[in-house]
Amino acid sequence: MPIISFVASGHVLFMDAETRRPVACIRTSAGAGGLRQAHMSTPSPDETYVTVANQNGKLFERILTNYKTGAFVHDPAATLNRAADLAGLAVDFARAELAPQAGGCAGAVGCVLASVFAAMTGGTWSRLKACRNEGCRWAFYDESRNRSARWCSMQLCGNRTKTRAYRTRRARA
Ligand SMILES: [Zn+2]
Repeated sequence: MPIISFVASGHVLFMDAETRRPVACIRTSAGAGGLRQAHMSTPSPDETYVTVANQNGKLFERILTNYKTGAFVHDPAATLNRAADLAGLAVDFARAELAPQAGGCAGAVGCVLASVFAAMTGGTWSRLKACRNEGCRWAFYDESRNRSARWCSMQLCGNRTKTRAYRTRRARA
């Protein structure tokens, strides 16, 4: 089955080889800076999924494929699930947390994933954000009461961004 990746729109198109008709069109996830591009799509050796390099979104994505039934399902959590597999994340009941069984780089990534999982189940995940200043993108914890913080620091990135927007508006006027 021909698979076409679209860089401009970030779509992956599956086509029937005989009829040349589109069978499925999957939109990749928006990643870093809201960008999405599908630079390359490669079927797995067992043909149960397709990996997609979403370069500008800084994502490596997976689409589950069943060519017999024509089912194509975007699996946005695939990269994290695979990283958790490689880290061998296991429940440590004594410490009431997830702990990586692997060492090295996979284990280090596993420690980060364990913290992410704890934040997701603990309800604080939505407070962990990336600074809206494109030149910064620093990760920060939003401690505001209504969870509306947009910058890592109002004094630095907040004021800079607002000043820049003000100058742009004045230049246009
Ligand atoms: Zn910032």
